Order: sequence, then structure tokens, then C-alpha cells
Amino acid sequence: MFYPQEFDVIVVGGGHAGTEAALAASRMGCKTLLLTHNIETLGQMSCNPSIGGIGKGHLVKEVDAMGGAMALATDEGGIQFRILNSSKGPAVRATRAQADRILYKAAIRRKLENQPNLWLFQQAVDDLIVEGDKVVGAITQVGIKFRARTVVLTAGTFLDGKIHVGLNNYAAGRAGDPPAVSLSSRLKELKLPQGRLKTGTPPRIDGRTIDFSKCTAQPGDGMPGGIAGQVPVFSFMGAGIAHPRQVPCYITHTNERTHDIIRSGFDRSPMFTGKIDGVGPRYCPSVEDKINRFAGKDSHQIFLEPEGLDTHEIYPNGISTSLPFDIQYELVRSMAGMENAHIIRPGYAIEYDYFDPRALTTSFETRAIKGLFFAGQINGTTGYEEAAAQGMFAGINAALQCQDKPAWLPKRDEAYLGVLVDDLITKGVTEPYRMFTSRAEYRLMLREDNADMRLTEKGRELGLVDDARWDSFNRKRDAVSRETQRLKAIWVNPNNLPLPDAERVFGKALEREHNFADLLRRPDVNYAGLMSLDGGKYINPDIQGGETNVSRETALDADMAKSVVEQIEISAKYAGYIDLQKQEVERTAHYENLKLPVDLDYLQVAALSFEARQTLAKHRPETLGLASRISGITPATVSLLLVHLKKNL
Ligand code: FAD
Repeated sequence: MFYPQEFDVIVVGGGHAGTEAALAASRMGCKTLLLTHNIETLGQMSCNPSIGGIGKGHLVKEVDAMGGAMALATDEGGIQFRILNSSKGPAVRATRAQADRILYKAAIRRKLENQPNLWLFQQAVDDLIVEGDKVVGAITQVGIKFRARTVVLTAGTFLDGKIHVGLNNYAAGRAGDPPAVSLSSRLKELKLPQGRLKTGTPPRIDGRTIDFSKCTAQPGDGMPGGIAGQVPVFSFMGAGIAHPRQVPCYITHTNERTHDIIRSGFDRSPMFTGKIDGVGPRYCPSVEDKINRFAGKDSHQIFLEPEGLDTHEIYPNGISTSLPFDIQYELVRSMAGMENAHIIRPGYAIEYDYFDPRALTTSFETRAIKGLFFAGQINGTTGYEEAAAQGMFAGINAALQCQDKPAWLPKRDEAYLGVLVDDLITKGVTEPYRMFTSRAEYRLMLREDNADMRLTEKGRELGLVDDARWDSFNRKRDAVSRETQRLKAIWVNPNNLPLPDAERVFGKALEREHNFADLLRRPDVNYAGLMSLDGGKYINPDIQGGETNVSRETALDADMAKSVVEQIEISAKYAGYIDLQKQEVERTAHYENLKLPVDLDYLQVAALSFEARQTLAKHRPETLGLASRISGITPATVSLLLVHLKKNL
């Protein structure tokens, strides 16, 4: 039957990409249907119960800055938070949280169920309805046909998924879930370029059988024994009060015996016996891969991470494996504290189909089938955060297409999301792609702390950001701007500043007159130091915030005041470098955005090598900037192409 109602956007899959895609499209006013195998697994973390980390935290903050769900759900479900690289520069500082997987999932489901314009429906999607070169809907396992103007496919690791434990294997989407076999065949019939990748997960342990006294405790920030201060929050709208109880993780190690046990299972490893064809993530390898590749290393750190507050289940981060169960059993028990460990769930590897993201346009629409968008692991990425960011992006662009508006295409200097999309569609993947700060050439501008300053206004314009977030953002932005101006207007000199004060804050007497904004650029000077000068005479009562000023309408609460000061300090200290990056962006902007004619016949551009002509004809990049980043396209080719364009346009 045809379902009686039609939709603007159908999202297939309720993982991290699918939920953000559905939320984004419906926030933008589109009538959206989220079709997924099982409502109970909405927002399920297939592997480690943690969100964020270096590069990944940046993506989460960007999704949050545009009104997405991941950071807020992490604040509600996070049982341990840390700021990684806290002693390094702001570009590489990143938030990471251990999450209670049940609380996280519940928070995501609550958001989905309460989202206006969003319908949920539990059914496997087996087929797409394609008319001509356009998708117009999806068909479920029991033959229900849903019509829509656009479809966003976020099937994760489920497409023709196959689980391996030792030499045994079976079809599945992840442990306990069915694979999507019919849909995978249908996509292959549509001749979308496809390949196989693999990923893996460790065995889970019953915490009651671990002797934690033999392991090293690792408390989170703001916990006893951890970095002093408040427990961090993920969302720009988050508050520490949303956090549940905080708990520590623990660390143990593999040892020579562990490694011997692992080696003894190589002959029954699906990886080493050729049973698995798919390529795995180099940066998150299985333990057998680590032992094989880094044979000289006699120990690896293993983090014992709680899966939640109401469960004893422990995730041993670092021993992802598809070795046979008897080897898993022995290797787990060979580590300190784990001598009596009981495995609750075996580790496994999963192989699945992904689709070459180079077959997508800049908006993540497939080139072959109009109205069909792909996001998440299906595009060859790995990670919840990468999936969430892509999901939001595809959801936005599907919604914009329904509204007959141009696509939203963040650039590499605007967002990690821009870097992610650009990397995927120009370079494709040879292994599961994960985000790193090193992938972003303008990373000083793309910090976690300023994700809201970069994206919230755009999110509001697109209809993604609600009034509460918009008000809060404006208060912060105005406060940063007012305070920056005020600092520029406060002048001190050797005559009006007491010498002991100058020596305390600047290490020496001032040599001449300076304003506070300039002084803040000095490496050892901070905002608090400036405010302590001359008996606190320069304190801004709005920023000082806190309880003494609650009666002032303009006073900021402590969290907001802290983030305002952070913005001011970072902008002052890194102003020189940030200006250089901005100049670099401006220099390349013209060529970066130069549109390449859609009908350009690359095969006839005689100045280019035959190989370059073929590559460009295959990829048909939309701009010169995109062309320049395609593998095999050299700067010389770009210059020749530019000369050709100048001559012929
Ligand atoms: P998923 O989270 O997989 O969600 C896909 C959704 O689509 C599910 O809800 C599914 O039910 C639904 N679906 C699929 N097909 C259909 C259909 N035909 N009809 C209806 N619904 C459908 N990432 C890391 O960063 N680090 C790791 O160590 C790591 N290890 C992993 C280990 C394993 C075993 C697995 C399975 C994944 C691992 N990942 C890891 C990857 C991480 O889980 C994914 O990157 C992330 O979940 C991808 O999000 P997604 O939304 O694209 O897909």
C-alpha cells in the first residue's frame, strides 16, 4: 500500500547520522519521516560509549552550534568528562565524555519524539522508489510505500553486514541487529560505486569480576583526583546540573603473555586468513593488528570504561578483536585486574558496504539519483561524531532542496564539517575516515570554543536554531564585543599603575602606556590578572557575574562569563596567527570558489595531461578549489585549467 501521507524528507536509519538528519530537516519546517529498523535502537552507540575527542569534539560542538542533539544528549548522559590537550593551544583542545549508553539513547529518543514535524516509523527499508533519475520514496519490508521529495540514507554498518568471530561468520547489521541485504542489493543495481570496509569492537566485561584495585583510576575533570574545577559541559546550552553522577575509568595493560596468546590465534583470525576483505580503521586497529604491526612494543594501555551507571558492563577500550572466543577469553584474563574476568559479550569485527563519496555532489546528494542523499558510515567514515555532522548536513540540504533553496556548503575555513565534506567528495576513502585536527589547514580558526561564533547565526538563518539558543548566543556575542571594546579603552602607564601590581601581573614595570587589549596579547598575561590591577578597579560587574550581581539585568551567569572571557583571551593571544590565516583564506578565495562550467568537456582541454583530463571528466568538480584537492590533480594542472578558463570564458 501507499502510505496515505506524503513527506518532504524520508530519513532511513535511526543511528547518529539519521537522528541528526531527521531533527535538522524537521527543525527547518519540513515534514519528515524517520524510518528505522527498531525504535528501541534510536541513537544507539554500536561500539564505545563515548562521545568527542580530538577533532571529533569539534564536530559535536559544530552540530550543537546549529541546534543539533548530540552535545545536549551527551550532557544528559555523560558520566565522565575531560578536556583533552588542556595544556596545549586552543585549536587542539577537545572535549571527550564517557556516556551512559542508556541515558544517552533515552535523551536522543526524547528529542526525536518531541520534535514537531517529525514522524517515526519502525520498519526495515528494503527498496527505494525511483522514477526516472529521481528518488520519490522508500518501500519497507512488508511493502508499505512511503512517498517523499527527498530521501536521506544513513544505513551505517548494516548494508550487507557480516559479523566475524574467529572463522565463524554470520549476516548482521551489528550484534543483535539484522543486516540490510535487500537495500544493499538495490543500491548495487542502481550502479552506485561501492566497496567493503570493516570495523570491530572488544568483548564486554562484567565489572564485578574485575579487580579494580590492580588498575589505575582515571577520574574525569572536576572529580576528586582529577583536574580541579567544574565538570566540563559539551553543549553551548549545557549546564553541569544536567550531568548525572560522575564515575572514574580505569587503566590496565596488555603484557608479553597477552601478546603471545593473541599471536597463538593468528591462524584462526579472519583478518589474517583472508576471510575479511574490507579495510579497517588504521587509527583504531584491532588488538591483533596492533600486536602484528607493532611487534616491538611489549605493552599497550587498555582503558576500562563503564558502559553506564546502572550496569556492571565494562568496555575495555583497546582490545577490539575478531579473534576466536577461546583466545578472547585467555587474552582478557592475562591482564592485571582481569584474572577472573567474565566476558558478557564477545568481541567481533563487522564488514559492510559503503558507497564511494566521490559519487556525491557537494551537498551529499548522489549524482546518479536526484533527491537521494547519503550520510554517515555509508559514506566510508567511522565514528558517531562524523556521522552526526554528516547527518545534520544532509538533512539540511535535503530540506533546502524541498524548499527550492540553494544548498548550504560550509567551506574548509568555516567548519570541520566543511573539511569533512570536502575531503570525502574530493578524495574518497581508502579506509574508514575519521576526523583529526590535522586535517584542517585553518584549525586555529576552527576551534571547539568558537563553534557557536562560526555557525549559530547561519543555523538561525536556516531555521535550525530555536529562540532560547539564539538569545543566549546573542548575549554572549554582545558581551564579547562590548568587553573587547572596553579593554581597548582602558589605558595604563607607569604613572597610573602601582609598581608592585605591574610586577605581579606583567613581571616588570610597564615601559610606556598600553591598553588592556594589547596587554592581553602578552603570553603570560591573563584577563583575571588585568582585572586584579589597582584593587580590582577595572572589574566589569557584568562579567564578574555570579551571585553579587544577580540583580543586574546585564550580568552574565558564571558559565557564560567564563566562555566570554575565554573568547576574549583566545582572540587576543592568537590574533596575529588568526589574521594570517584569514589573509591566506582571502588570497585563495577567488580561485577556491571559481565555478567550473557544468558542460566543460575536459577530454578536449588539450593543455592538460590525458590522465588529468580523465580524472576531471570523471569527478566533474563544481569549483576550481574542489578540483585542486582531487587525488592526482597537481597545482600545475590547476594553473593550466585556469589559463584554459580565462581564454575560453
Ligand atoms: P549506525 O549508527 O550504524 O546507524 C544505522 C541505523 O540505520 C540503525 O539505526 C539501523 O537500524 C538503521 N538501518 C540500517 N539499514 C536500515 C534499513 N534498511 N531500514 C531501516 N533502518 C535501517 N566508531 C568509532 O568511532 N570507533 C570505534 O571503535 C567503532 N567501532 C565500531 C564497532 C562496531 C562493531 C560497529 C558496528 C561500529 C563501530 N564504530 C566505531 C562505528 C560507529 O558505530 C559508526 O560510525 C556510527 O554509528 C555511524 O553512524 P550511522 O548513523 O552512520 O550508522
